[in-house]
Amino acid sequence: MKCPICNSESHEIIKTKGKNTKEVLLKCNECGNTFRETINIPKLTECRIIISKFSESEKKQVKIYPDEILQVGEVLVVDEEEVQITSLENKRGGRVSKSPVSELETIWATSLTGPARVGISIDYGGRILSKKVEIERDFLFTVGDVVKMGRTVFRIKSMKTVTSKIRRGSAIAEQTKRVYGRPADRNDKFQYDLSSKIVENEI
Ligand SMILES: [Zn+2]
Repeated sequence: MKCPICNSESHEIIKTKGKNTKEVLLKCNECGNTFRETINIPKLTECRIIISKFSESEKKQVKIYPDEILQVGEVLVVDEEEVQITSLENKRGGRVSKSPVSELETIWATSLTGPARVGISIDYGGRILSKKVEIERDFLFTVGDVVKMGRTVFRIKSMKTVTSKIRRGSAIAEQTKRVYGRPADRNDKFQYDLSSKIVENEI
């Protein structure tokens, strides 16, 4: 909005009226001229969002502008919870990576709050012990770590991250799907204890 007298774009709003189209009275900061403008304020629309957290999912409605363009990977705040978009389903039933809200049927997202859940598999020469742990999202696992979990002490041999399987290096819990280990040597000292982090047993 430019001042019709001096073309300045710097102004203050003196008065507004109307709900969806607002008539505003502006005062130019440069020359002091007052002028009226009409602004269209887009109405918020409701869109269905399905937020998954571990194995559960929750259906909610999110209030959002219809012309806003959403993209997979983007982070939204829904009821004060940060969620990341994993998929967008449009009104024709297709899955797209980017779309304006007005064309969307459902937003699929995953919660970014709370701990990360990581699977642990320890190989006792063919017999596999599997557990799941919940741990701080930024906790760092490194191949070679000696870890205590319940009565077991194991050494991390490899890890499956969201993007690949790694046999060396580190990954934060948030990026780690599963940690693979082998029983540690008798005289290995464990560096950390995951016993209190175990959430469920797997078969
Ligand atoms: Zn002016």
